[in-house]
Amino acid sequence: MMECAVVGKFFSPIFSSSRSVVVEKRKLPSLHKKIKFCSSKFKMKATQAETHLSQEAELQAEKRGSSTGVGVGELIWPSPSDGTPFWKKDFPSSGVSPEVPADVKDSDPKHIIHVTAEMAPIAKVGGLGDVVTGLARACLSRGHTVDIMLPFYECIQKQHIKDLTVITKYNSYHDGNWVPTNAYRGVVSGIPVIFIEPSNQFFKGQYVYGGSFNELEAYLFFSRACLEWMQQVTSTQPDIIHVHEWQTGALPLLYWDIYHHLSLKPRIVLTIHNMEHYGECSKEQLSKSGLEGSVYASIDKAIDDRTIGHNPERLSLLKGGIVYSNAVVTVSPTYLKETLCTGWLASTLVRNRDKYFGILNGIDTTMWNPATDIFLPVKFNDQKPEGKKFCKYYVQRGLGLASEGTQDGNHVPDITYKAPLVVCITRLVPQKGLHLISHAIKRIEELGGQMVILGKASDAQVATEFECLAKLHNQGPCIRILLMFSEELSHLLYAAADMVLVPSIYEPCGLTQMIGMRYGAVPVVRKTGGLADTVFDMDDQSNHNRANGFVFEGIDEGSLICALDRAFTYYREKPDEWNGILKKVMEVDNSWNNTAGKYVELYNSKSVRL
Ligand code: ADP
Repeated sequence: MMECAVVGKFFSPIFSSSRSVVVEKRKLPSLHKKIKFCSSKFKMKATQAETHLSQEAELQAEKRGSSTGVGVGELIWPSPSDGTPFWKKDFPSSGVSPEVPADVKDSDPKHIIHVTAEMAPIAKVGGLGDVVTGLARACLSRGHTVDIMLPFYECIQKQHIKDLTVITKYNSYHDGNWVPTNAYRGVVSGIPVIFIEPSNQFFKGQYVYGGSFNELEAYLFFSRACLEWMQQVTSTQPDIIHVHEWQTGALPLLYWDIYHHLSLKPRIVLTIHNMEHYGECSKEQLSKSGLEGSVYASIDKAIDDRTIGHNPERLSLLKGGIVYSNAVVTVSPTYLKETLCTGWLASTLVRNRDKYFGILNGIDTTMWNPATDIFLPVKFNDQKPEGKKFCKYYVQRGLGLASEGTQDGNHVPDITYKAPLVVCITRLVPQKGLHLISHAIKRIEELGGQMVILGKASDAQVATEFECLAKLHNQGPCIRILLMFSEELSHLLYAAADMVLVPSIYEPCGLTQMIGMRYGAVPVVRKTGGLADTVFDMDDQSNHNRANGFVFEGIDEGSLICALDRAFTYYREKPDEWNGILKKVMEVDNSWNNTAGKYVELYNSKSVRL
């Protein structure tokens, strides 16, 4: 197998001068002597001489066409024929420190335990994982005590967990038996995590979801095992148990009907990240958790309203969670409004309106930071965005997107500037506007742009459709459809992108438009849910101050095309305005610093405290 060697000879502007961009300095302990970093997949060499670009060389680099003023020396660009793709090289481990920049220290620190099915980066499928990690880190930095409880999925890569140790072996109830269970403690991205590992088949398999065990029963077990751990094993009394999604929706029922009567005293907050997944459950299944399932089969408890009078009636763990939690949050103000008007849960939410809140998600700006991102070959930030062009060129080269005239490593060729690169990073599910994503491929090709889709489909038919599209386009010069989940590649794509496309049919909050903005990718989005709360159209004169992207409303091809065409026109014909948008989107503060405080207010609010 061919080895992918990236040899970087870095010139001084990269490291120091006022015109510098920040380039990966990882594992380069000193620049005063010749240094080498080698592994089987990755090689980097730099010498002191090489890190200082002479004035003449700098001039040459500029003459060769790079208007960025950034030299990247002899960085060897990746190619599609590399044996190891450029996003799979050995990156340094992402030891993110718990220090989230926040000036605020809250006066009344709380102990918050998140009980969740996902946590980034070790068990991430979508935004839920990002949000749990980001909110937990933000609260830690504000002075709170925070723990995360997570199933110990077999697929979790243990090398990402610091100080992993078994702390307890205990039994937790499921379906008439007490299941021997291990609790581990470890630290991930600076956050203390408790991992729950039952001795049965639950949570075994290659992926977070979709293992060959009954998922609903596994999460019922997990919900009870977390309470059991708090109450019987450790007598922990957090102030808040913060549950997420249907997977932990039974916890509030178990809490109020069993564990609160024993000794637990915390209050329960539920965050709903997506109402589409509501945890359909039979009464018999709920009974396996030790509750009496039929007790919850009423309209004011956990019955799925659509099944009333049917045989059999069904329960919804999400609805039960809404009814039994002290406060319920959804992830954007617009999605809150939408969910009060549409969907079968609307009547439940209206009945519980006084404890239902919309708090916009944030992004973890330590993990998502183009100035320090370990995955990027060249770093950049809003003050010095030049490195972004090199990231674009790097990705173009690595994916074999048209980028002719590229023999010279110091030089970003014209095509890199001429062809706007649009990325779409998404779970491939109907919610994300699959037909619009396919139309975008066609239109972007017609417009002479480039597009990369990084997506994973769980549904076999969707997977087949996108595999066909990939076969059709991936040999050509401008479209790449990559059907997989890759955290590393997602970082590289955000950094490379001129635009990030989010054509969702509905979108509770959406993180990709916010991450894209931080990495200088201008969002092109459908106006729905959190997208409507974070992206404002460039051509909306009534809201010009906030304008930061391109927005369309319809779910038809024409609406999408119109937004894409406008974005391309700005990019190509109004370069000054485009540079203005670029700077503006990078400066937008969508960090948790902005919104974690709203959660803290909620933790302190009467509806939770009484
Ligand atoms: P959702 O939670 O509905 O999946 P969000 O926009 O809230 O959508 O969050 C998506 C998160 O998952 C982002 O961090 C995005 O970068 C990531 N993501 C989605 N698909 C992929 C993929 N195929 N590979 C890597 N990351 C992905």
